[in-house]
Amino acid sequence: MIYCKLHSRQFASACALLWAVSALAQNKPITLNVDATDAPRKILHARLRIPARTGPLTLLYPKWLPGEHSPSGPITDLVAVTMSAAGKSVPWRRAADDMFAFQLDVPAGADAVEVAFDFLMPPSSGGFSSGASATAQLVDLSWNYLVLYPAGAKSAELQYAATLRLPGGWKFGTALPLARESAGVLEFSPVSLETLVDSPLIAGAHFRTVDLSPGTKPSHALHIVADSAAALELKPEDVRRFSHLTSETGALFGARHYRGYSFLLTLSEHVAHFGLEHHESSDNRAPERMLIDEDLRKSWATLLPHEMVHSWNGKYRRPAGLATPDYHQPMNGELLWVYEGLTDYLGIVLATRCGLWTNQNFLENLALNAAMLDRQAGRAWRPLADTAVAAQLLYFARPEGAAWRRSVDFYREGDLIWLETDVLIRQKTQGRRSLDDFCKQFHGGESGPPRVVPYTLDDVVAGLNQVAAHDWREFFQSRVYATNPRAPLGGIEGSGWRLIYQDKEPDLLKYREAADKFTDVSFSIGLQVKEDGAVIDVVPGSPADKAGVGASMKLVAVNGRRWKPELLRGAIQFARTNDAPIELLVENEEFFRSCKLDYHDGERYPRLERDATKPDLLGEILKPLTPALEQGAGTK
Ligand SMILES: [Zn+2]
Repeated sequence: MIYCKLHSRQFASACALLWAVSALAQNKPITLNVDATDAPRKILHARLRIPARTGPLTLLYPKWLPGEHSPSGPITDLVAVTMSAAGKSVPWRRAADDMFAFQLDVPAGADAVEVAFDFLMPPSSGGFSSGASATAQLVDLSWNYLVLYPAGAKSAELQYAATLRLPGGWKFGTALPLARESAGVLEFSPVSLETLVDSPLIAGAHFRTVDLSPGTKPSHALHIVADSAAALELKPEDVRRFSHLTSETGALFGARHYRGYSFLLTLSEHVAHFGLEHHESSDNRAPERMLIDEDLRKSWATLLPHEMVHSWNGKYRRPAGLATPDYHQPMNGELLWVYEGLTDYLGIVLATRCGLWTNQNFLENLALNAAMLDRQAGRAWRPLADTAVAAQLLYFARPEGAAWRRSVDFYREGDLIWLETDVLIRQKTQGRRSLDDFCKQFHGGESGPPRVVPYTLDDVVAGLNQVAAHDWREFFQSRVYATNPRAPLGGIEGSGWRLIYQDKEPDLLKYREAADKFTDVSFSIGLQVKEDGAVIDVVPGSPADKAGVGASMKLVAVNGRRWKPELLRGAIQFARTNDAPIELLVENEEFFRSCKLDYHDGERYPRLERDATKPDLLGEILKPLTPALEQGAGTK
């Protein structure tokens, strides 16, 4: 544990020479007092006391956020910044070439700087942790909103002692160790800045904690906060599935790198929806009815497995370019196809192994991803590695034009590449070994408190070769670093399945369309359309593209009748039986245009079909490693 190590080091140095005592004085924790009682009004108040020496000082606001892989620190919403020392106001100025740096001169005789500011939480729901994070009923608190730190210091070496006041009656969950609670103020044990930023907190009026591994160490808790009490009604079978997830991760990796693990789950329509990984917790934000609406639950089934996998793949083992010493040094995302790609693959495998998904859900998801990637025009010019290097741009790119631009494809293409890796290992070792062995060897190690072990591509190649000898460098070179007009489908084919197209819409796509309010006919005419007709994207080379439909136009009518999803689908299917084109009336700003699609192949959706000439390796991959929990277990 970082906190304990630092303190034992401090205790030893206190017995040493005078210079060491002086160093200890400088090592006093920075205190952080947060008042979140105005969270329903979307304002947080913070006060910091930062030990300092006389002279120039630069204080930094966290810019590059771990897990967000981008300089997304919400500096614009830091307001009412005042600084003082020894009871006197101290002027500050922002560095003109660095929006995240505050410069000041610490006056003679002062041993600390007092900083006060407010943080304005945005009402919109875009972005990640800098997006909407508070409602009338709850708050998702990321400590990086609320800290400044001295430039030049490493986040693992700075100590912070935080307190927090919440609105009356609100309960909370966090992995941050609580020292005491008195008079409505939570007082946390001093921890490193790294641990503080790594330990967000959720709180609210409707709150529930479920113990997912009663009586075992380390503990696993599911903390849920929601906009309504009804949204907390977690079904017993889902409790068993989440419990099973924790036993499956233990069996897969063979060691755990946390003192206890907390799933923080926020259910609200008014917060940004995403997941953010941490060593000892994950910040998971989903629609309010995610636990009680079966279609929504299936749509979001991989969220918690994905974020939990990150405790091993992303936090403990981390690409060297993402293991930065503070929040100011730019990150290099080149290996995100390992950090996120392998996590995504393990997330969908674990969601199935623990029963959150059926095998059918897994197959439908894989088919949809493979088909989307296989038809994506942007892969002709952009290698997958560039989607990783440019992740800091692509996370924030608009959906219009995504097929030609490419998106953060290292997630979904990662599924295909790591499936192929898994299949190759199984084939080369006659089924004796698998990717599970690589995970245990590469991500397992010794159980204990959080720590970071960086890696390079060489380490990944060497690790795979220890499991099964192969030219893994060439394998990744051709799939990740070179452009490929077609998606890597070798894993699907090698595992005894093939990608085909048929006219029945997969259930998983129906769930997603209902959850995200869009219509996807991209596999037939090449269009994705929002509820209001706005065209999300057009697949280059598709019938809609050839007929002149463009992204950000608006679909008004289909064959002369006001459009709705079933009408569009009906027209596509009907065009099979005659030669008349499908006529789409589209609005392009204030101009209208009729686009005629010469398309007669009917509705088309991807599906995986079993290839009986080969063994079903996917079936093997999806088998749980641990027994499913029995009725009644894990429902405490
Ligand atoms: Zn992730």
